[in-house]
Amino acid sequence: MKLARSALLAAALSFVFVAAAAAEDASWTQPQKPFRLYGDTYYVGTQGLSAILIVSPQGDVLIDGTLPRNAPQIKANIRALGIRLGDVKAILNSHAHDDHAGAIAELAKASGAKVYASAAGARALELGGKDPDDPLYGETSPYPPIAHVQVVADGGVVRVGELQLTAHYTPGHTPGSTSWTWRSCEGKDCLSMAYVDSLTPMGAASFRFSGDATHASRVPAFRHSLQTVAALPCDILITPHPGLSYLMARVARRDRGDVHALIDPQACRAYAADATTWLDARVAKEQQAPAGKL
Ligand SMILES: [Zn+2]
Repeated sequence: MKLARSALLAAALSFVFVAAAAAEDASWTQPQKPFRLYGDTYYVGTQGLSAILIVSPQGDVLIDGTLPRNAPQIKANIRALGIRLGDVKAILNSHAHDDHAGAIAELAKASGAKVYASAAGARALELGGKDPDDPLYGETSPYPPIAHVQVVADGGVVRVGELQLTAHYTPGHTPGSTSWTWRSCEGKDCLSMAYVDSLTPMGAASFRFSGDATHASRVPAFRHSLQTVAALPCDILITPHPGLSYLMARVARRDRGDVHALIDPQACRAYAADATTWLDARVAKEQQAPAGKL
């Protein structure tokens, strides 16, 4: 099982890294029929990029919007669940790259929802992703800037009716990276849902997570984020790139009758452990190339 998991992870990772280097992957725009993850939580993203809808009688919460040109697909997926766009009251973001935040401006305009992010995330969203503090600054695609982003403190809660989603600052992949947790119930069975942001230490060719003359080391904060993720309440792990949490494979298993296939209380801990090895590898690479491009 460990081997199979490592192989899967390697595939998912090379996919994410290659996809980022090539700007995007075909799965990022490939249509995906919306489906229930658990209780009031639904997947409304594309095949390769997550967008999550949590519904309540008093209004709904959307997490992430995916690419700018996916906006019509995300809207159609929400409507296909019988939800009116105007019932989406809050849109939360994981991080301010175009593959997760690109469609948010359009979705906020169409729904009238307020947009929420961390302090650094809000700044990057308002810049349309052109954040000089982003490790990938200059290599990501800009997108329509989002006006009036509401800042949520670390540990802060976004409330829509009975829904409560807690922000956990997990800087590393970007300075504003945020993970979100909430509870979803089926009858009396309630589970901890964790939407954990990307933990990949990806940077522009000259960027050093371990610091240089232009900025202090990002490594201590990144490691703190990994500890945060490992300790999250986490029965069902969801990630902005669904492959990093094996989401579609687990959903397929569930749909074949393995009713608990999505549930793994160790998933956040395992994800943080994997990400620790990625960060260690990145830091080692930076130490071997003290000057110039990596
Ligand atoms: Zn990213």
